[in-house]
Amino acid sequence: MIKNVCIVGGGTSGWWTAGYLQKKHPELHITLVESPKIPTSGVGESTMPNVRNFFEELDIKEEDWIATCSGVRKQGNVKTNFSYVGDDPYNFMFIHKGFDEWFDKYNKGLVDKYSCYDLYDPNEWRGFAYHIDAAQSWQIVKEHTENVTHILKEISSLDELPPADLYIDCSGLKKILTKDREHHSYPDTLTNTCVVRRVKGETKYHSETIGRDYGWQFNVYLSDGRIGCGYVFSDKYISIEQAKDEWMKHNGHKEILTDWNILQWNPGRLVESWKDNVVAVGLSSGFVEPMEANGLSLLVNQIRTLSRVLHKNNAGKLYNRHVNKVHDEVADFIWHHYACTSRNDTDFWKHYAKIDGKTSLWKRIKEKTKLEPYLYPSYVYAYLAIYYGLKNDS
Ligand SMILES: Cc1cc2nc3c(=O)[nH]c(=O)nc-3n(C[C@H](O)[C@H](O)[C@H](O)COP(=O)(O)OP(=O)(O)OC[C@H]3O[C@@H](n4cnc5c(N)ncnc54)[C@H](O)[C@@H]3O)c2cc1C
Repeated sequence: MIKNVCIVGGGTSGWWTAGYLQKKHPELHITLVESPKIPTSGVGESTMPNVRNFFEELDIKEEDWIATCSGVRKQGNVKTNFSYVGDDPYNFMFIHKGFDEWFDKYNKGLVDKYSCYDLYDPNEWRGFAYHIDAAQSWQIVKEHTENVTHILKEISSLDELPPADLYIDCSGLKKILTKDREHHSYPDTLTNTCVVRRVKGETKYHSETIGRDYGWQFNVYLSDGRIGCGYVFSDKYISIEQAKDEWMKHNGHKEILTDWNILQWNPGRLVESWKDNVVAVGLSSGFVEPMEANGLSLLVNQIRTLSRVLHKNNAGKLYNRHVNKVHDEVADFIWHHYACTSRNDTDFWKHYAKIDGKTSLWKRIKEKTKLEPYLYPSYVYAYLAIYYGLKNDS
């Protein structure tokens, strides 16, 4: 029986895990150890609707948590320049009611692609998500989490931690407790680096995903006028300095608020996030790339799974099976963004233009269901088909 839990890391993963476990398992004694020096990874995050339910489960009111992390309600995500440079921007909105019927009509050529926006209902369940600053999003959970022993200390191995039945690695891309574990790569995800700065601008209620020469740019708008603006690219084709130049070419005219933040990862996941008595949660368990607001949604999914299986005999197996499946699903959805492109303007896009993503895109639309259990249900794949100008293949 697990009684003592020790979490390493005090970012979003660390505090959200501590808060949730304490709520669902008040019998646990939780210790959280975090470095006083190593910063968290927040860049200005776009999320999926499940983040909202997570806070509801923690009994933290929307108006309270949204205010503390400069959050705004997000209605969709506008994509452009993935099909070809200068294509029509298309907003992937959170539309559920009536979407399937509308998509049938669209496939028969009876309606145009913008008419689905008329169906949008901001009050619908899962009708919106959020932009938040992950660098602030752990604070309110920390405030609501009592009885956690909090230790400020930078560690390099398990031996430096207090005794516990279960250790949870929430140390982000550093993977302090799990870096030697076998890694499952996503070789067709080329994007592995991001150069980010915050800029100032008017708040918008959708995020923006803009294809660039060797990857894409995100704009995530916060309520205080800050915008997380990052260029996600492949270092196989350009250096960090070249990426900064490209970022400046597109954004240098804006009011720049921060210096560069450089983040690098190896696209993939651990083969076993839970092994022996150490489990990885959050970025330490793996990362595909930032497309489609997957990081925090995956995190919420992992925390819920951990809580559900915690006291089961085969907890590790159950956790790994679920977490791996969701990671692979995220990688699959992201892959389709690139693999349906017609862009041929750089070696990065030429790599993807050679791949046929369209056949499997239709397969996903048909085989998936509308909502749970998928993080990315059929309708978001349908959005990709619409964006790429594809009509039903049958
Ligand atoms: C470029 C990029 C863009 C992203 N965009 C999005 C997005 O739009 N939407 C989304 O949902 N997600 C996004 N994510 C993911 C999201 O930022 C993370 O999931 C989230 O911030 C959680 O990170 P974390 O807590 O796992 O790690 P971190 O935030 O990195 O926290 C790690 C913690 O571990 C501590 N630590 C590290 N080393 C040690 C040590 N040796 N000893 C003690 N403590 C240590 C640190 O001090 C810190 O407290 C993005 C990620 C990246 C890299």
